[in-house]
Amino acid sequence: MKMHFDVVIIGAGIMGASLSYYLTKLGLKNIALCEQGIPPGNGATHKSGGFIRIFHENEWYTKRAVESYDTYADWGNKIGGSCGFKKTGFSFITDSTRSDQLRANAKKVNRYCSQVSVLSPDEFQQFQPDFSLEGIGAIVYEPNGGYADPAKTALTFIKQSEKKGMKLLEGVKVERILHHRKKITGIQTNIGSIRADKYVVANNIWANFLLEELGLRLPMFKKSIGLGFIEWDKEKSVSHLTSCIDETIGTYFRIFSNYRLLFGVQMSHSGALLQDRSYLDYGDMQIAKEKLVGRLPLLHKGRVSWEQTKFRFLYK
Ligand SMILES: Cc1cc2nc3c(=O)[nH]c(=O)nc-3n(C[C@H](O)[C@H](O)[C@H](O)COP(=O)(O)OP(=O)(O)OC[C@H]3O[C@@H](n4cnc5c(N)ncnc54)[C@H](O)[C@@H]3O)c2cc1C
Repeated sequence: MKMHFDVVIIGAGIMGASLSYYLTKLGLKNIALCEQGIPPGNGATHKSGGFIRIFHENEWYTKRAVESYDTYADWGNKIGGSCGFKKTGFSFITDSTRSDQLRANAKKVNRYCSQVSVLSPDEFQQFQPDFSLEGIGAIVYEPNGGYADPAKTALTFIKQSEKKGMKLLEGVKVERILHHRKKITGIQTNIGSIRADKYVVANNIWANFLLEELGLRLPMFKKSIGLGFIEWDKEKSVSHLTSCIDETIGTYFRIFSNYRLLFGVQMSHSGALLQDRSYLDYGDMQIAKEKLVGRLPLLHKGRVSWEQTKFRFLYK
């Protein structure tokens, strides 16, 4: 196999996958994408909630969300294939202590997008009757928000860039970045060494294992979030539910399929604050379910299941 490329990207989560797509779109053909697992890998992309929303409380994120929204909304024409975007609407719920702050932030977001508005609990309940209004101060709502399928999104980017010549190296773990006299000379992998003109380290929190040897350390910290699912009575579809971040109960949720909801589980129960805990226990799930049912009483008979996960990101 040819082992010299113009660019080698390490990590095929959403960052590596989209980068490989846009580089091939710019005309570069001789690119390799190394993923230690099977794309989209076993990192954050695989577990992400995939919310599509313009409203963020950080202006930098809002601007990026505005720039990328049209790509998700018109994925078939812009990228090809599907990213699984479902326009369910997006809601951000807060309590009365944060209502004024939320209103002020929504106003800032309105400079970039007029679709974001602040609703009173009563206005919200008119089209989301299954929500209990307990503890809600204000709600930011955007009708064009929703969620995409993060794994599908990454895989589509990969597929489209492969069509343009990108070489996907599945099951290839980068073990070391080779260097000599302050110059990168290659990467050592489980299938041998690979050389390139440029290297992109896009392997999320694992980047520091590779960068350490170069005397670099990215300022990352980790945050654990559990991923839960709740299934309910098949008599009642809840496909009309908005995708939601609910600060008052400390979680987010969205439809996963017609009778299944995906939700985030705060891992702050009992021993969860131990630095390295990456698993969920029954106690975490019971607390999470109780809070969720408080907001969506129709889920009270729902059966829960869960997946463990670690969520880590770069802090700016
Ligand atoms: C539970 C959860 C919910 C989330 N919800 C949202 C959300 O709603 N909205 C949002 O915007 N973001 C969300 N995120 C965050 C978002 O998913 C991440 O920011 C994003 O997926 C990071 O992508 P990435 O490509 O940088 O990293 P990753 O997806 O982690 O990809 C890194 C890849 O590198 C590979 N790799 C690691 N080391 C090596 C090596 N040495 N050699 C080869 N390959 C290697 C890994 O296998 C992995 O596939 C969520 C994350 C989690 C976990």
